[in-house]
Amino acid sequence: MTTVTVRAPAKINIGLSIGAPGADGHHPVATVYQAISLYDEIKAREAEPGSYELKLTGEGADELPLDESNLAVRAARLLAAAYGVADGVNLSIHKTIAVAGGLAGGSTDAAGALVACDALWGTGASRQELSDLATQLGSDVPFCLTGGLAVGTGRGETISPVLARGRYEWVLAYADTGLSTGEVYAELDRLRGLDLPPAPAVPDDLMAALRSGDPYAVGKALHNDLQAATLRMRPALRRTLELGEEFAALGSLVSGSGPTCLFLASDEDHAVDIAVALASSGMCRTVHRATGPVPGARIVT
Ligand code: ATP
Repeated sequence: MTTVTVRAPAKINIGLSIGAPGADGHHPVATVYQAISLYDEIKAREAEPGSYELKLTGEGADELPLDESNLAVRAARLLAAAYGVADGVNLSIHKTIAVAGGLAGGSTDAAGALVACDALWGTGASRQELSDLATQLGSDVPFCLTGGLAVGTGRGETISPVLARGRYEWVLAYADTGLSTGEVYAELDRLRGLDLPPAPAVPDDLMAALRSGDPYAVGKALHNDLQAATLRMRPALRRTLELGEEFAALGSLVSGSGPTCLFLASDEDHAVDIAVALASSGMCRTVHRATGPVPGARIVT
């Protein structure tokens, strides 16, 4: 029986600027995405026509729905509908990416399911056509498909690749429980009150730092407009971020809507030092190391 296996990376936002919500309630963003070597693995196997089954293992698997509301199942169904595929699919996902951790785990699985089912069914969809479907699934899904390093605008779904140098060493601290992205955005609106922010823009210093490929400059330029809201909701994360500073992280910030915290290290040895300090601090549930940028969702077998 044919099986297609895809490795799909988490995303981090190394710059995240957020504007005022529009009439539809959505916030415009200007973000710099980086895909990192922290992967969920998505396997797609042939199944009877109309049968869509999902098995989940690993990080947070027991918290997630297995039905149509799972983004990976939605992705498979959307692709089948778009290309008139009658066959079904058995999906198995092994998760490493924290659920509701600000790492776009759901979007990652959706991108992985698109790539896996596309290969299994031989739809012949172009990369652009897959990206158009990805946009219908969520703002982060097009980037999870492409990976690498890119600027995202609109709601994050309009992607422009960034030509930049450098390989970055990250340490990630997982928190005990996740945070709802919607609630973090609502907290940001409360904090801002009547002070309307300017139109979102990617900071020039971050773009210059990325062009230079200098991790020290990138560390200084890391930026996340959501961080204040996340820290309001999880004050204990301040201490986690401070620990990164104590161990000379080049930069420490909350990943997306959090609660995962990110630390940029100068090299692999430094990343190990930060990871050991975090792991022995008792301040986080799990620590991971990852490098970026890496390509988006790709077939491995
Ligand atoms: P983002 O940064 O994209 O806003 P996040 O990384 O904070 O999201 P996700 O892990 O993507 O959070 O999960 C957000 C919610 O999406 C979960 O609470 C879950 O109910 C839902 N979801 C649906 N399918 C999946 C999936 N395959 N993996 C993770 N979450 C999923």
